[in-house]
Amino acid sequence: RILLRQVRDWLGHRSRVTPDAAALVDTASGASLTFADLDAEVEALAGRLAAEGVCVDDHVGMLLDASPTAVTVVHAAMRVGGVLVPLSTRLTTAELEPRIERADLDVLVCEAGTEARALDAAGDVRVVSVDADGEAAAIGATDPQPFDLPEWDADDPLAMLYTSGTTGAPKLVVLTVMNVLSSASASAFRLGTLPDDRWASPLSMSSMGGLAPLYRTTLYGTALVLCPTDPDDLLEALGDQRPTGVSLVPTLLARLLEEGDLPDSLRFVLLGGAPAPDDLVRECGERGVPVCPTYGMTETASQVATARPGEAPAHVGTVGRPLLFTEVTVVDDHGDPLPRGHGGELVVAGPTVTAGYYDDPAATAEAFCPHGLLTGDVGRVDAEGRLWVGDRKADRIITGGQNVDPNEVVAALRSLEGVRDAAVVGLPDEEWGERVAALVETENGLDESSVEAHCRERLAGYKLPRVVGFGPLPRTESGTVDRAAVRERLEAVRATTDS
Ligand code: ATP
Ligand code: MG
Repeated sequence: RILLRQVRDWLGHRSRVTPDAAALVDTASGASLTFADLDAEVEALAGRLAAEGVCVDDHVGMLLDASPTAVTVVHAAMRVGGVLVPLSTRLTTAELEPRIERADLDVLVCEAGTEARALDAAGDVRVVSVDADGEAAAIGATDPQPFDLPEWDADDPLAMLYTSGTTGAPKLVVLTVMNVLSSASASAFRLGTLPDDRWASPLSMSSMGGLAPLYRTTLYGTALVLCPTDPDDLLEALGDQRPTGVSLVPTLLARLLEEGDLPDSLRFVLLGGAPAPDDLVRECGERGVPVCPTYGMTETASQVATARPGEAPAHVGTVGRPLLFTEVTVVDDHGDPLPRGHGGELVVAGPTVTAGYYDDPAATAEAFCPHGLLTGDVGRVDAEGRLWVGDRKADRIITGGQNVDPNEVVAALRSLEGVRDAAVVGLPDEEWGERVAALVETENGLDESSVEAHCRERLAGYKLPRVVGFGPLPRTESGTVDRAAVRERLEAVRATTDS
């Protein structure tokens, strides 16, 4: 028990072992905190949370932009034994309401910029505002209260995160202490960790991709560098700070490479959340960017498989091998394992895999099979053990009885000069069951006939997009294409062309 108690207080341990090491750099304010500084802030805030009545097992909602304040709240929630529920600050009141209710929050922590929305959406949930003046965070005028460090089991929940909602309503994933700890150690085995590492991230802390660097740098005793999300500002921040690692989503990396060069201080560029286009990985290879494509999901506390720094350009299209202790099985439509090399649904098992969705045993039961978590993603493992991830199972298009992999159509479209990106979906069709439809994002405008001619050269007739729309691709916060929104736009395109 005593050991578990110490294991739980990751920051406390860190501040005792390496108090003077850099813990946090905030590029927006220029502030920099050591582990001892951060620990003191967290202790004060945890005391104030305790004074507000927050205690062990409470669900602590967080509606904060990624900032030193948010970092302090994440640690303070952990220190009082709460379960962190980070919410995206991009959500509207109407989107927040059901998420707050579903998560059974005991308290919702916000700041001046998010307070109005928090109060509107919180219902009966207590809202607590945290003010950041300089480096000090404070809640109202409450005096800190002493509290006991809670005792923890490895299977206790540490955080609950919403999925991106690409396929439907976002699901609330419970991640335990063991899930996050295992993810941090397995990631270090793949990417390496060095005492002077500095991990930069512009990602929202409401996603595992954004939260993981915070937990990990604390465990590793290295620095987290909070970065802006705007590509120009981010490029500048990376140049100034010269981090050794950075977490990015593909759309953002593509923008950065259009704007300029990444610093040569980087050991790894962890690229996930959505498929990495092959051309982007090749370009990274040519420009010496140590890209590490990764496949992961909220349900697995982020990374499932990740390419080692340096290996990606020689293995374009793969996401590397599964991480330590993570097992990937490929199953057919009946759930039976397939031999190596065969394509099917990816099933993941291991210590990073969630115990389930919060308070939803039915959805949890449906998500698991005897081999592990059903990802809903299609892929295969090649002869060298590298993972290839294709489309989502639900995205496969069946038109006139023929299967169409939307990724194949996307790849054909992407190979047309002037096409920045494309999304392909099946629209319901009376005659064919489904019809292939494409939304194309162009650099400076293309007409439908050149898209058609280009596809005709590369794709069999049944795979050709029959409905083509133009415009920027709608995306979720993690960078995946928002397929429901794509569908809506293409339905509108079809409606105007049919009439
Ligand atoms: P929801 O589960 O609510 O529909 P979501 O699955 O998009 O949303 P996340 O957990 O944020 O929510 O994203 C995980 C998914 O992202 C994976 O299941 C996969 O479909 C996709 N993904 C992540 N990395 C990659 C990758 N490298 N290649 C292909 N797909 C990826
Ligand atoms: Mg999902």
